[in-house]
Amino acid sequence: MSDLRDLYQEVILDHNRSPRNFGALPQCNRKADGHNPLCGDVVTVYLTVADGRVADLRFEGKGCAISVASASIMTELIKGRTVAEARAVFAHFRAVVTGSEDHEESLDEDLDKLQVLSGVREFPMRVKCATLAWHTLAAALDDKGETVVTE
Ligand code: ZN
Repeated sequence: MSDLRDLYQEVILDHNRSPRNFGALPQCNRKADGHNPLCGDVVTVYLTVADGRVADLRFEGKGCAISVASASIMTELIKGRTVAEARAVFAHFRAVVTGSEDHEESLDEDLDKLQVLSGVREFPMRVKCATLAWHTLAAALDDKGETVVTE
């Protein structure tokens, strides 16, 4: 189990060091800002939604390693999915990081990547760091513009 934990740690640090899909997306048609006041994490998520599909997405922001890694992994997993799939992946991710069983079974193998963040379920403060980018993604999908993680 500790080997697995080390591996997870390594993946998180790697995403934090070199976040994927990082930077503004000038041609985006949806955008939202997220803020986690408990930790000070801030993130902006940019989406290009076309024909009900997330054709492209990028993020900017700064915060702790968990928040940055989670945003980076999110962009990799959401790009190319339909809006409905994106919401389902978020529901699954929430189950992974909170340890609730409801959506625990994976929609597809790609989502196993989310397990690297499962360790945060033991640290309720960290759950908000992990879910910030996802709540911001949901706000962008809903065209809400801004979100503060409160749960
Ligand atoms: Zn944080």
